[in-house]
Amino acid sequence: MSDVVIEIAGLHKSFGSLEVLRGVDVRVRRGEVVCVIGPSGSGKSTLLRCVNLLEEPTAGTVSVDGAELTDPDADIDAARRRIGMVFQQFNLFSHLSVLDNLTVAQRKVLKRDKQEAERVARENLARVGLAEKADSMPAQLSGGQQQRVAIARALAMNPQVMLFDEPTSALDPELVGDVLGVMRQLADEGMTMLVVTHEMQFAREVADRVLFMDGGGIVEQGPPAEVIGAPKQERTKTFLARVL
Ligand code: ADP
Ligand code: MG
Repeated sequence: MSDVVIEIAGLHKSFGSLEVLRGVDVRVRRGEVVCVIGPSGSGKSTLLRCVNLLEEPTAGTVSVDGAELTDPDADIDAARRRIGMVFQQFNLFSHLSVLDNLTVAQRKVLKRDKQEAERVARENLARVGLAEKADSMPAQLSGGQQQRVAIARALAMNPQVMLFDEPTSALDPELVGDVLGVMRQLADEGMTMLVVTHEMQFAREVADRVLFMDGGGIVEQGPPAEVIGAPKQERTKTFLARVL
């Protein structure tokens, strides 16, 4: 098994005449946590969405765990199973209990039987500190709890890598810490993670590497102490001056 879990090479993405990604290269190694920062509209979400082909790249290649997703013959469903994704909006099924939210895809996609799917669901609810909420409905939970359920739901599929797109941006400030705590724990457990975030403290403490994006490209990257602590590029400095 290769050490590189995500390999993005020469990635371009346009929407009509709007070029949103202008040649992006990213490699994420097994167990690595890479945080992506940058201004709104710089292409961060599009980059993440190209990794599991929620958006189809205009040019370039994306490989996950050695399998090239952009290969026309690729088994995209199989590749997507290796990728967990958590969005700003939690996207839980509101008419299903927390437990059922975690078992649906396991049963449909992984063909696990009910008992096994529920066992894995409870295990992952415990992992995010919500073992006692299995029978609750999503609307009975706080935003932070709902986001932790969304994380547990992704984990229940045994992904090789987790993608997070501003997972705390829709939360009330007092609920952000619990979600970041779960993400920190995942990082400590060795999960490979690509995280778009505005939480600079989290990026500083948890990321192995930080990418600063602007205008559809990576302007600067390196350890957080360098990119956030001592940025070299003017655009990075300007951005950080606004958010820190
Ligand atoms: P970020 O996540 O960094 O804020 P996005 O990747 O969401 O940036 O968006 C980058 C640019 O691409 C923005 O100008 C946005 O309006 C545009 N864009 C994103 N998705 C689409 C789409 N489906 N159709 C057209 N334009 C889009
Ligand atoms: Mg975005």
